[in-house]
Amino acid sequence: MSSSALDILAIAAHRDDVEQTCGGTLLKMAQRGHRTGILDLTQGELGTRGSAQERAAEAAEAARILQVSWRQALDIPDGRVENTWLNRLKVARVLREQRPRVVILPYWRGRHPDHYTASVLGYEACFLAGLSKLGKQGVSSQESEVRVEAHGFSRGKPDAEEPAASAAVAQLAPHRPFKIVYATLYYDIRPTFVVDITDQFEGRLQSIYAYKSQFTDQAAGAGDFPAHAEIRQRVATTAGFYGLLAGVKYAEPFLQKEVGLVEDLLKIPIKSI
Ligand SMILES: [Zn+2]
Repeated sequence: MSSSALDILAIAAHRDDVEQTCGGTLLKMAQRGHRTGILDLTQGELGTRGSAQERAAEAAEAARILQVSWRQALDIPDGRVENTWLNRLKVARVLREQRPRVVILPYWRGRHPDHYTASVLGYEACFLAGLSKLGKQGVSSQESEVRVEAHGFSRGKPDAEEPAASAAVAQLAPHRPFKIVYATLYYDIRPTFVVDITDQFEGRLQSIYAYKSQFTDQAAGAGDFPAHAEIRQRVATTAGFYGLLAGVKYAEPFLQKEVGLVEDLLKIPIKSI
């Protein structure tokens, strides 16, 4: 099991989210010999353009371009990514199966509710996945819901899928990722660090273009989707902006909640003046 563990797992609400926020970083990490993976929480059935089946094929092609070792989509309904006990169990099961050291989550604020909910859901699943009694007697949805109720939220009713989800997660050894970082490309905040993706820029762009049902010029949803020709410019502009902050051509921005730890002042990158 440990020989096939992932080094890095990116979790996002929709197929094509990861390509647009941290695809260059995933490609770079794969090129450095790390084992990377992507977990999409939904299958994209609500999208204006393309069917869930089309998006599955496109996601597989994007994963190939980004040299990702593992990719899967859960069955959480598109447009209804909710931080429920059942959904936490589903994500925790994947974390225990894939055992990543680093997890990349979406930033915890944003325009689309699925995106910021995926952030909190992912964080809580990372925590729960490390609890040895998760899914066994002692940590049940009833207990969780009582805790939620004590904080002033309404009580949810247990889901019919829950016993199977509990049993699946209980069969796997506990695992908690060492590090969680947040991909922040689509929110106007100052990142705590950026990753230089100058050499991965073209690959990342191709992984976005792999979503032909989304990004090929067409009438459906034309008001919401950039034309094909605009995508390169848009991606280059944002990656160029974050690159400029760090003195490189293209970069992807991230937040971490922890401080940075420095061993040697002489090795801190990025010129100050
Ligand atoms: Zn999305």
